[in-house]
Amino acid sequence: MKTPKVLIDYKLCKRCGICSHFCPKQVFVCDELNGAQVDKEEDCIACEKCVIMCPEMAIEIITQKEE
Ligand code: SF4
Ligand code: SF4
Repeated sequence: MKTPKVLIDYKLCKRCGICSHFCPKQVFVCDELNGAQVDKEEDCIACEKCVIMCPEMAIEIITQKEE
């Protein structure tokens, strides 16, 4: 599997930090000023915990098959 793309819609993100709390791979860094930032996208395992837990539905994980 290629590295998934982790997309955050900043029009929706409320900077709550839930995604960074629940991500098992510490993909996000989050602070109150900037909200969630994708820090280590290459570590993402596409478990979609962040997608499920984000109260604003602001996260999308795009997975691509190996060509
Ligand atoms: S869980 Fe959603 S709303 Fe909260 S910081 Fe992460 S992306 Fe933003
Ligand atoms: S899909 Fe899983 S590993 Fe990837 S950013 Fe979301 S919670 Fe973290």
